[in-house]
Amino acid sequence: MVVEPPRKVYRVGAPMIGTRYFGIVDQGTNIVEVRPTSLCPLNCIFCSVAAGPLERRRWADFIADREELAEALRAVAKLKGPGLEVHIDGMGEPAVYPELVELVSDIRGIKEVEAISMQTRLFMLSEEKIRELAEAGLDRINLSLDALEPALAKRLAGASYYDPARAAALAEFAVRNTRMDVLVSPVWLPGLNDGELPKIAKWAVEAGLGKRWPPVLIQKYLPHKRGRRPDGVRPVEWPEFWRWLRRLEKELGIRLDWRGENPFRVERRPAVPKPHRAGERVKARVIARGVFKGEYLAVPLKLSGDPLLDRSITVTSDKRLREGDEVVARIIEDEDNVYIARAELVFPQSA
Ligand code: SF4
Repeated sequence: MVVEPPRKVYRVGAPMIGTRYFGIVDQGTNIVEVRPTSLCPLNCIFCSVAAGPLERRRWADFIADREELAEALRAVAKLKGPGLEVHIDGMGEPAVYPELVELVSDIRGIKEVEAISMQTRLFMLSEEKIRELAEAGLDRINLSLDALEPALAKRLAGASYYDPARAAALAEFAVRNTRMDVLVSPVWLPGLNDGELPKIAKWAVEAGLGKRWPPVLIQKYLPHKRGRRPDGVRPVEWPEFWRWLRRLEKELGIRLDWRGENPFRVERRPAVPKPHRAGERVKARVIARGVFKGEYLAVPLKLSGDPLLDRSITVTSDKRLREGDEVVARIIEDEDNVYIARAELVFPQSA
């Protein structure tokens, strides 16, 4: 019998740039993504990052150290200049981050940050927590809500405890009782939730979402390499998606296609420096498992102490590695300063 290793949860203060598991992902614009945790209580059947307690391919999750995260973000913000939006998201559900209010407050204290937004399913928060988040400086909730019909919503979320009515009620509470805005961002899963999207769009407008930003942004389902792929969904190409959206827009009389405008005021900004390149070899120490089995989190043996220059690296290996092992790994991907490397030599930790 093969005994599965239980999933580990790491609280990490490792370099906050370089991995998709946690920290900061920069795509060279004024929108900076902050990822506080990879934990999520749901198991959405279409999850692009295969999050949630039932996923057998994951063997670790991460909770980022708040002070390290804020320090790195201050350095990134200084480099990029004023007019930034910090978007809290990640390979999990950011609302379960234990120091979320404090993190929002840290971000609010960064003078270059103009807006703070967060992607969430919301149902796990309370009215009190929403008030606290608004007072700490959260400007917008991007509500992930793919169905209002309870049985379908639970099926899509892969969890009987998921409650779409609670999420909708909390969104209404937020727009009516706080300075925050809410934008609903359902994913269209053709063949699964077609009938739900008109209901969600109408609800969003009637409930007063979109005080400052668009009330509804429907997302196209994009199958991802590591993501879960639901049965019965027919992925569509972009032209079909836009045609369908325009039809829905006409039918409902609600603006859904925001191409040609820039409601989030996205603009190019300097990207954080890239200290490593694909093809290069790095000597690194394994400090944790990675999120997916066969992946590890490593940090280079030589660190500068500067959050703009130090990187976390995801190392893949066929051999089981242990925390403390040193490796020589060849970087095979470096896109957006996210580094994936393959272990070539392993120096096991001394016992
Ligand atoms: S889609 Fe979001 S809420 Fe659903 S399992 Fe993935 S991370 Fe969690």
